Amino acid sequence: MHRLTFYKDMCAACETHDCLMKCQHLDLDLETARMEMDKIIKGEDSFVLHDCVTCYACEEYCPNGNHPFYLIVQTQEDLHISPLPDPLVTRGIQTGIPFRGEPEIKEMTGTALNMGVFSNLMDRVGGRLFEGLPVISEDPRKMFHYFCQLMYLHYGKTSVINDRLVKIIETIAAHKAEEVVHFHDECYGTYMSYAPAFGIDVPFSSVHLFEYLYNKLVELKEDIKPLNYKVAYQRPCSSRLSPDKHPFVAKIFDLIGVEEVDRTYVGENALCCGATILGQKKQGSRQYCADIQEKNIADMKNAGAQICVFNCPACMQTLATPVSKAGMMPLFMSDLCRLAIGEKIG
Ligand code: SF4
Ligand code: SF4
Repeated sequence: MHRLTFYKDMCAACETHDCLMKCQHLDLDLETARMEMDKIIKGEDSFVLHDCVTCYACEEYCPNGNHPFYLIVQTQEDLHISPLPDPLVTRGIQTGIPFRGEPEIKEMTGTALNMGVFSNLMDRVGGRLFEGLPVISEDPRKMFHYFCQLMYLHYGKTSVINDRLVKIIETIAAHKAEEVVHFHDECYGTYMSYAPAFGIDVPFSSVHLFEYLYNKLVELKEDIKPLNYKVAYQRPCSSRLSPDKHPFVAKIFDLIGVEEVDRTYVGENALCCGATILGQKKQGSRQYCADIQEKNIADMKNAGAQICVFNCPACMQTLATPVSKAGMMPLFMSDLCRLAIGEKIG
C-alpha cells in the first residue's frame, strides 16, 4: 500500500508553520498551528482535520517542499473523518471507477495530449496551437481510463487514488509518447507532485498545459495581435501542487497583450472556486461557499476585469454563470490564446 513520505523532522525545525498560518480558511496563531500540526503528524485528531475546506493551498505555502495537505487527507482517512457526507462519498467513488472495459492503446511518438476525464472538451483544444498533437484520451466513452483520480483528495480518500492510479499511469505510458501534455492542471499535479510524494512511479514526462501554450505562442509570435482586454485569472486548487508553473499565466498574458487586473485574490492569495466547499458536511458550508464566490467575483469586477480566464473545467462549470451575471466573459485559457492568433472559437 502506498503511503505518503512526510518529513516530520522538517516540521519540528520549522519556525513559521506557514502551511497553517497562511491558511485563508482557518484563523490560527503560531502556537496553535504548531500544536495542531504536531497532532496531525502523530496521527491524532485535530480540529484542522474537520475544518479544512480542502483548498490544497498549504501544499504551496510550505516553503520546504513538505506535503501538509496530503498529510491532512491521509490522516482524515486513517481517523475516518470525512469532509463530505457519506452518501456523496460512496456515489462519487463509484462514479470515477476506471477500466469498465479495456482502453484502446494507440502507440505514439513525441509529444501527446492527455485530456484526462475531459474528453468531452475536445473543442477546447482545436486550431493551430494543438495541430498535429496526438490525443491519448479523445473518446468520451473511455475517459475514465485516464481519470487521474486526484479529485478524491476532496473526499478524504487517498486510498482510492492509490488503488487506481498505478494502472492509470500504466495505461498512459502504454501509448509510448515521450512527453505528455496534460489538459487538466489536476492531472499534471497528480503525476508531478502526488505520485512522487506517495512513491508511485511515473514513467513518462509531463508538460503543463500553460508551458505548452506559451511555447506554441512563441512559435506563432508573428501571428499574435494584442487582445487589449483586462482579465482576471481564476486559479484552481490543483495549481497549488505546481506553483512553479503558475508564472506561465503572466507570461502568456504578456505575450498576447492582455492586462491582468490588480486585485486582492491573486497568486498565493487566490480563492478557490468553492465547488468542493458546497457539498461539505460542516454546518454553514453552503453559505460559506456563497460568501467566497461573491467576494472573489466582486474582486474581479471591481478591479475592472472584462474576462475571467479559467484553467480548470470544474472551476468554469462552477463560476461561469455568476461571472457572466457580473458582466464578465468566462473563457478557457486555450480559447483566449486562440483568439490572440486570430482564430475563431466555438
Ligand atoms: S509542513 Fe512545511 S510549513 Fe508546515 S510545519 Fe512542516 S515544514 Fe513547516
Ligand atoms: S487545504 Fe486549504 S483549508 Fe485545508 S489546511 Fe490547507 S490551506 Fe487550510
